[in-house]
Amino acid sequence: MKIIVSEIPEEGIELDLKDDIKSDVVSIVSPVKSVMRLVKIEDEVMVKGALTADVELQCSRCLNHFPTRISSQVDVVYHPVREIVKSEQRELKSAELDTVFYSDDLIETDDLLREQLILNLPMKPLCSPDCKGFCPKCGADLNISECGCETKETDSRFEVLKQLKKEKE
Ligand SMILES: [Zn+2]
Ligand SMILES: [Zn+2]
Repeated sequence: MKIIVSEIPEEGIELDLKDDIKSDVVSIVSPVKSVMRLVKIEDEVMVKGALTADVELQCSRCLNHFPTRISSQVDVVYHPVREIVKSEQRELKSAELDTVFYSDDLIETDDLLREQLILNLPMKPLCSPDCKGFCPKCGADLNISECGCETKETDSRFEVLKQLKKEKE
């Protein structure tokens, strides 16, 4: 959705959106739902709210793709692009790191939501917290089957689990 900055009323605007957004970085498999409040102070626009979307990630251990839900806060301040020169002169405070720029009196909420979503993707996605990954020797997906390879470094946590299993049997 395109927001015309000069048309944001004094009292601000509330957005309740459900947009189909595409990204080159991540496969977004649901509409991106967001609730945001935009308030204009002089020529800066504060955006606060939250977003939710379903994405498909690749597990960093087993490399399988899996769906997951990303929910994140949105808390950014838009400055008009002509302010860049000015802001280079003053020191950027750390509080201003969530600063973004708009130009031509326009804020494109799709761009904002896409960026915020990508910023909140996990660095090391896991299909499940106890994903076993694959065997470093034969490449078998250990979530599907044990390959039987002897691996030198045994993970003590798995040894404990194996032991527990044996005791149950
Ligand atoms: Zn996995
Ligand atoms: Zn193996």
